[in-house]
This record gives sequence, C-alpha cells and structure tokens, in this order.
Amino acid sequence: MRAVVFREHSPDLDVYDVVDDVPTPEIGPDDVLIKVHYSALNRLDDWVRRGWPGLNLRLPHIPGSDFAGEIAAVGERVHGWEAGQLVTGNPTLFCGQCLYCLQGNQHLCDDFRIVGEHEPGACAEYLKLPARNLIAIPEGVDLKLVAAGNLVGVTAWRNLMVDGGLRPNETVLIVGAGGGVNMTAIQLGKLVGARVWVVASNAWKAQKALELGADWVIDRSQEPNWARAVWKKSNRRGVDVVVDNVGQATWGSSLRALGKHGRLLTVGGTTGYRAEVPVNLIFARQQRIIGSTMGNMEDARNAFELIFSGKITPVIDSVWPLEGYVDAMKKMLAGEHFGKLVIAV
Ligand SMILES: [Zn+2]
Repeated sequence: MRAVVFREHSPDLDVYDVVDDVPTPEIGPDDVLIKVHYSALNRLDDWVRRGWPGLNLRLPHIPGSDFAGEIAAVGERVHGWEAGQLVTGNPTLFCGQCLYCLQGNQHLCDDFRIVGEHEPGACAEYLKLPARNLIAIPEGVDLKLVAAGNLVGVTAWRNLMVDGGLRPNETVLIVGAGGGVNMTAIQLGKLVGARVWVVASNAWKAQKALELGADWVIDRSQEPNWARAVWKKSNRRGVDVVVDNVGQATWGSSLRALGKHGRLLTVGGTTGYRAEVPVNLIFARQQRIIGSTMGNMEDARNAFELIFSGKITPVIDSVWPLEGYVDAMKKMLAGEHFGKLVIAV
C-alpha cells in the first residue's frame, strides 16, 4: 500500500518518503482494517520523527494520529461493524483489561499508546485499529472535518471540560491561537458559556481568533507584557482558567494572569518543558496546575458528537495529497498555518 514513512529519527524532514510497497496491516481477531480517506498533522508527528530515548519504534514508521475512512475488513471476533461503514475512532490505544481501563480511564492505561506514535499511523491507504476504538460517522458528515477534529478534539475535551472543569461565566485565557487544540478550546469555551480570551502571536492570528468566537484577543507582538494586560482587563482579579500548551516561554506569564483558585491547564509544551514557575503565586493565590494527554472513549464520543452535530467546526488550513506531506509539515513548523493541515490519502 502507499504510505508516508520515515526510516530513521532525525530533526530533518528529508527522512520522509512516500512509498508504494508498505505491507498492508494484518488485522487480529479484535481489529478492523480501515481504508483511510483523510488524516491530518499534529505537533506530535514532529516529536515522534525526532524521537526520544525509550521510544523504540519499529522503523520505517508511518506517521498520522488522525483518521476518517471506511471499514475495509473486520476481524473474526468483531461484532456490530461491517465493511463499508464510515468510521473514525479514538487514537488513544488501550489494553481494555488493566485497572485504569476497567475504571473507564482508558487514557491512563498501563499499556497506553497512540496511533501514529507507538503504532503505525494513518498517513497510509490502510490503518489497523482495535474495534473497541471505533466511532461511526453519521451520513452527510464531511470526513475532512472528522479527521481535522480527531486527536485535538479528544484532547481538548478531556483537558478543558473534564479535567479542567470549565463552567459557564468563567473566564478562560487561551495562550496561542493557531494550533488545533487551542482552536477547539476557543469553540468549546464559547459553547459552554464561558468568556474566551486569547493571546495571539500576530495580528492575522488575532483576527482569526475573533472570527472563531473569542471575546477578546491580545496581539502579543504589540503587547509583550500580556499578563499585565489580562490582569487589568480582569479588574485585577485574573482569569479562572488558562490553557497553556506553549510551555517554557509562557508559563510564568500564564500563572501571573491566573487569579485565585485558578487552574492552569496543559496538554503539551511546544517551546520546551523547563518553565519558570512562580511558586509563591501557586500557594498565595491557591492555584492548581492540571495536565492531561489524549482521552478515554467517553471523551472521544463527546468530542465527535459536537463535530457530527455541527456545534464545533474544526478549522482546516489546507488539504494536501500524501506527496505534499513534507511541505505541509514545513508550513506547520513555521507557524504559517491557522487550522489543521489535512492529508487526503
Ligand atoms: Zn489498560
């Protein structure tokens, strides 16, 4: 089958290749084989290609955690699914048997893995997936939107709505506007009835955030001390929730913008992990720091239901063929995108 692969870990993008001779995955009795129509790029794909000690991938590796397509074949123990059905699913892979899985906390599984990270991904004609991860796509839903909202939808729902517990009338500050998780968080915040403030890196992204529904946007290229601006705007109370997946470069400012009993939420750190944390603020303002990664099946179903019903519309920057994978990755890493870079397989 055709697929994007990389043959070795590297910071360089020239290790990617599009090839025709990757063996089609062999499914087990509890798996389905999905004919992929669309995948999409995530920051995770860049980290995985670079690699880290202990990752131990089988190389060559196929990237891609997002997927929407149709069932091509089902394993012998799979019931309730058949070839031809349009499907997506939770890219969080889990054993189904450990203590966490039995509690329904599949995102904490002892054998936690992610499609496209620890296992071959979806930038390929076919993807193998355990049937317990499947979610059916209703008639008439655009499969591009489903792929665009997949990993980021599950992640943002878990982080903002479940672990972060965002409530109506709270004020949430989202640091960064162009990435998929943050764009989903803007829409979720408005849906739940919160005030949504955004820190954008330039005027173009600030305008885009307003179009997505943000109530107030700060362009940090014009206002480097955005924490002080937030403090003033909130009548010197600070915000209730900050979503900060930028990490090292912004956590100090985020905690200064956060009010008493506020929650700092994170699912990643694109600028690095060694943030300076003002400990005095954390105890004096009685703040909480809450991290999460991916989500369980309930999170996935909740996130997809909002996409299927049109209550959330994933933002697509552009659609690329498999051959355009490297150019799409370059655009993402340069930060020149607003929305998801979708791959049409
Ligand atoms: Zn488990």
